[in-house]
Amino acid sequence: MSFDLVLRNARLAGAGGAPSSEGRRVDIGIDDGRIAALAPGLATSAEALDLAGRLVSPGLVETHLHLDKTCILERCRAEDGTLEEAVREVAAAKKGFTVEDVYARGQRTLERAILQGTTHIRTHVEIDPVIGFTGLDGIRQLARDYGWAVDSEICVFPQEGLLNYPGTEERLVQALNQGVKVLGAAPYCDTDPRGQIDRIFALAREFDVDIDMHLDLGSTPDEMHTEYVCDKTAEYGWGGRVAIGHVTRLSTVERSRFDAIARRLADAGVAVTVLPGTDLYLTGRQHEHSVPRGVVPAHRLLGAGVNCTIATNNVLNPFTPYGDASLIRQANLYANVCQVSRKSDLAECLAMITTRAARLMRLADYGIAVGKSADLVVLDCATEDAAIAELAVPLYVFKRGRRTVTRAPAELHRP
Ligand SMILES: [Zn+2]
Repeated sequence: MSFDLVLRNARLAGAGGAPSSEGRRVDIGIDDGRIAALAPGLATSAEALDLAGRLVSPGLVETHLHLDKTCILERCRAEDGTLEEAVREVAAAKKGFTVEDVYARGQRTLERAILQGTTHIRTHVEIDPVIGFTGLDGIRQLARDYGWAVDSEICVFPQEGLLNYPGTEERLVQALNQGVKVLGAAPYCDTDPRGQIDRIFALAREFDVDIDMHLDLGSTPDEMHTEYVCDKTAEYGWGGRVAIGHVTRLSTVERSRFDAIARRLADAGVAVTVLPGTDLYLTGRQHEHSVPRGVVPAHRLLGAGVNCTIATNNVLNPFTPYGDASLIRQANLYANVCQVSRKSDLAECLAMITTRAARLMRLADYGIAVGKSADLVVLDCATEDAAIAELAVPLYVFKRGRRTVTRAPAELHRP
């Protein structure tokens, strides 16, 4: 058989259970950018890379990352750590953004994400009368220039309000007319949050685009709109095309209501994205003790049939002053906070940054199967649960069969 490259002795993520036996090792034959064969001991003289039993996962999928406002910490005050401060400070900083500046900052974080094993990204870009298309133009160029390593999908959204901010909708419509495929929202930024949700659904239907909202941020179960979004999703027949991010208020809801909301989400086909870094940083700032954590226990939603993902949201800005764009680290953070203990639940954490995230983005050409695009990450571990528990390091990353990242394992120099 002829291949461009063979990855030998791989353990495959998604193969089920903890692959501890030798018999589960397979070779991955890659030809013309695609997975051409999956079998032990492929007979070929093609170039080979021996993985010595390491885990191969489909490339990591980041469903929620703001590349336009990354790396601005030195320009902002980030002291209160509240959502209000973050929105206010970024709104002020945005006035100084240029296309070149957006590109350069986005590039820093995008390259970090690629080095962490990410091969697909949905990036949220702000549109309003002040920023105009500056962020969008910078990120579109960045996405084109890095297409060799990552497929980027842009979601435009009104971070400073839609109904309260005249001129914003016209610009969102302009972006949708130019082919943007996902429409976001921030209903908490309007005095009439339901009014914003209504407009977003109407626009999504008009332009036939998916929806990805920032929803129900806060540390109490008051004024939640998750159920309303489920109703609108059902009304518009938009199941499988709507995601809601953060939903920190849901983490404060008592169990019986939580379970009822989980059933509504599952029935409507609304996915939930947990953003542990931001949710932990912003939630419960008014508390002096027993601070609520604001991280939705995604596993309870998964148990009810809801699709969930874990994502990064922000890197080095007033919403999240930390970050290295590592999805594995976010998944590990989530596992800590939500007290994930069973190995199968840890494996689900990996699924939430790979296969489940791909489902949220409706990626058809994804996964480890013959015929799929060879978008792969080799992790320095043998099992899916270990990938999360031990913060496994990505050693190699492949995009359409071409190696995009190599990281040498750290060496111990004994005396
Ligand atoms: Zn966000």
